[in-house]
Amino acid sequence: MQMFVGGDWVDSHTKAAFDVTNPATGELVDSVPKGDREDTKRAIDTAKETFRKWSETPALDRSRVLLKIADVVRANLDGLAMSLTIEQGKPLGEARGEIGSFANSCEYYAGLIGRERGAHTPFSTGEGYFIVTKRPIGVVGAILPWNFPVSLMGWKVAPGLAAGNTFVVKPASSTPLTDLKVAALAVKAGLPPGALNVVSGPGGVVGEELLDNPKVSKIAFTGETATGRRIMEGSAKYIKRLTLELGGSDPMIVCDDADIDLAVEGAAWGRYRNAGQSCTAVKRVFLFKSIADTFTKKLVEKVKTIRIGNGLEQGTHMGPIHNQPQREKVEEMVENAKERDAKVLVGGERPKEKNLQRGLFYEPTLLKDVDYDAMMAKEECFGPALPLFVVKDLEEAIERANDTIYGLGSSVWTKDMERAYHAAEKIEAGTTWVNSPPIARAEVPFGGFKQSGFGRELGVEGLDHYYETKSIQVLEYGKGKKWKFPI
Ligand code: NDP
Repeated sequence: MQMFVGGDWVDSHTKAAFDVTNPATGELVDSVPKGDREDTKRAIDTAKETFRKWSETPALDRSRVLLKIADVVRANLDGLAMSLTIEQGKPLGEARGEIGSFANSCEYYAGLIGRERGAHTPFSTGEGYFIVTKRPIGVVGAILPWNFPVSLMGWKVAPGLAAGNTFVVKPASSTPLTDLKVAALAVKAGLPPGALNVVSGPGGVVGEELLDNPKVSKIAFTGETATGRRIMEGSAKYIKRLTLELGGSDPMIVCDDADIDLAVEGAAWGRYRNAGQSCTAVKRVFLFKSIADTFTKKLVEKVKTIRIGNGLEQGTHMGPIHNQPQREKVEEMVENAKERDAKVLVGGERPKEKNLQRGLFYEPTLLKDVDYDAMMAKEECFGPALPLFVVKDLEEAIERANDTIYGLGSSVWTKDMERAYHAAEKIEAGTTWVNSPPIARAEVPFGGFKQSGFGRELGVEGLDHYYETKSIQVLEYGKGKKWKFPI
């Protein structure tokens, strides 16, 4: 496959390429161009040239194009979902949901654009008024991770294009294929060639050019906190606008009055979906003592029913871990917890089935009696292993929940809304779900506190991050005399 620049399929000028493999089988899926700085510069130039045309396209027409993109993506949903499963590993049903989420983002921002209201307000001193206007920022560099390559592209390009910006997307090196196909479909749907370009290649080269190039005005990044730090440094030279969606270690608090069956489903969905590789996966569960045994017993039974396998096979609930270093990291965390006397209730190793040996599988794992100093209590565990902790009350649960550098998602499970609001007020996280697993919705702003990043994606707030705000101050005729220079 080639990369997609200026509406054309192109190779790298060096002709270099790299392979994309299927994490469920280890087989080669395809190869893509290994873009370098020169390739990236060309894509940036194309995006810059297209910016004027696209930003001056009336909002209603931009809205129509976004709706058409959503239609075309939905019409190709089966093929795109299969492509995503093969390169990323997630079960086909989850891949279908992810492609649908891309289309949802386009539809949401298509609906929003052109319906916004501005501000026209008198000065408090009375001699005039001001108008607040919004204008697109320019060329945006979108740098994506491998866990949700398509939906996270949608979270960026849908509001960004709606606002009139143009894009150079840098997909994760291990998941470029479906993003490339979606970008080509967007142009087929009527987006001007050059408004959405996708350059495959290493983060340290393509990504760094996006940071270094003065024609890129904003970086929208999702990925690890450590990479986010580098993105901030690299963006400092030209004071680029930034949105950073980084890691998380989301707490789930289950109170003594919770609907236990619902909470068990929420924990299983929240932790094992996408093989645990979600920024807002449930990563630490805090159980009130009186319900801890019942909850644990039920969750053990549930986790034992999770069927792992190739995401293309019907009946697969959980696919492989996406790459080998990630699997080794999860294994290290489980071993580290065991060394500190944690008990493995389910899983805790690679599966033994012969047909799973070629893939990067790891059993869905549940642990109790995990030490608060264990790696999986302190760091982000980006895989299918879940530690359970017992707490005496809500205050202890909140204190433990906040004892992390992260602050992305969180959840509280209770029938008492007073308790739920109290927890939501006190938990230091961008989102608190109440009696719900972590589900992102197009209309709800999403983002982190603390080292989980800043800026917001989705919702009206997400659109705002693709605008510069401009104030126009007007002195009314005859009211400006007092501002005369006194000499
Ligand atoms: P990484 O940070 O490793 O990579 C993300 C992207 O950054 C990739 O495209 C990568 O390229 C690129 N990159 C790497 N180095 C640089 C650099 N020096 N300059 C510019 N770009 C660079 O994250 P992962 O792909 O491993 O994704 C998993 C992480 O993402 C998890 O920590 C997870 O929590 C987080 N995440 C956060 C979400 C949120 O909304 N807050 C949502 C989803 C995930 P390449 O692939 O070529 O290395």
